[in-house]
Amino acid sequence: MAVFNHPEFDHHEQVVFCSDQEIGLRAIIAVHSTRLGPAVGGCRLWDYATDEAAIVDVLRLSRGMTYKNAVAGLPLGGGKSVIIGNAKTIKSEQLFRAFGRMLHRLGGSYYSAEDVNITTGDIMQVYKETPYVAGLEGKSGNPGPFTALGTYKGIKAAAKHQFGSDDLAGKVVAVQGLGSVGFYLCEHLHKEGAQLIVTDINPDAIARAEAQFGATAVGLDDIYAAKADVYAPCALGATLNDITIPQLQAKIVAGCANNQLQQARHGNMLRERGILYAPDYVINAGGIINVACEMRPQGYNAEESTAKVNEIYSTLLDIFARADAEQRPTSEVADLMAQEIIARGKK
Ligand code: NAD
Repeated sequence: MAVFNHPEFDHHEQVVFCSDQEIGLRAIIAVHSTRLGPAVGGCRLWDYATDEAAIVDVLRLSRGMTYKNAVAGLPLGGGKSVIIGNAKTIKSEQLFRAFGRMLHRLGGSYYSAEDVNITTGDIMQVYKETPYVAGLEGKSGNPGPFTALGTYKGIKAAAKHQFGSDDLAGKVVAVQGLGSVGFYLCEHLHKEGAQLIVTDINPDAIARAEAQFGATAVGLDDIYAAKADVYAPCALGATLNDITIPQLQAKIVAGCANNQLQQARHGNMLRERGILYAPDYVINAGGIINVACEMRPQGYNAEESTAKVNEIYSTLLDIFARADAEQRPTSEVADLMAQEIIARGKK
């Protein structure tokens, strides 16, 4: 299996394959860049169908973290790790401690944190073996609420650009995925008076959203064509593709999911349809901004973290303005901005 010639390989500094046969750990750590600082990015636990699928994910996600951290103005590089296995059966203290020992060997060039299927409790087990983790209990903790806050501010920025006002009262937002980010996002939106259309594979989450926010539930595939002002993907990646984009009724796509565009060209497809896209790694940076706050020498401070998360609003307005001025897709402008910041950055 090729790595250096892999289409997703982008001169990653290190790609480390980790195995502990006795404990059943199989993991991959990818350090994409440490140019702006130590690489930081969460650990994802996923039952990948093939090793190739895990490699694709870790290569793409780690590069995404470099770009995300750069545009968020953080003194951090980008990395990511994946543990291969079924989250329902594989989790144990031994597994996370074995992963922690692998992390420790990297000597602080990469810090891990929560991602899909990894809780703060899991991270505390990793912490027993290495200090190179963030998102700890009693410090920045669960990044979900901060990611939700940033996404909410991002939706407001998109509304300001697209509709001339960032007031979301009366606006209809279609939220796909009511997990640890999506549900908090709904809370912010409901508080401001937005109407919610929601979908999820989990009927309990739907029932809670109906009860707490008066949300209207739709089928999994009906969320794209929902009569909404904003489509907020908060579950899976690659939901913006040749099949879904033509169905969209919303004039804004702004949600927290990673890797929303199936291919880079889908950014242009959205633009051609007059749909404003808030680039995923810009709008969903709230969690990593909060984690980064914990890594500062002066330590964690929730107020300062919140203030920095709120800056996602102005960062997105800048991206939207530049995209208009240069007649480019917003996704392309975000990548350019990241590349410019990284090029200016010092080791
Ligand atoms: P989560 O696992 O808590 O929630 C995901 C939700 O999506 C769950 O409720 C799940 O039932 C639902 N879902 C799964 N498949 C679905 C489908 N086909 N249709 C509709 N709903 C479906 O995850 P999360 O932490 O809320 O993260 C959501 C997304 O945001 C992920 O793409 C994640 O990578 C990204 N993200 C999360 C954070 C964070 O701080 N947690 C930060 C940045 C990006």
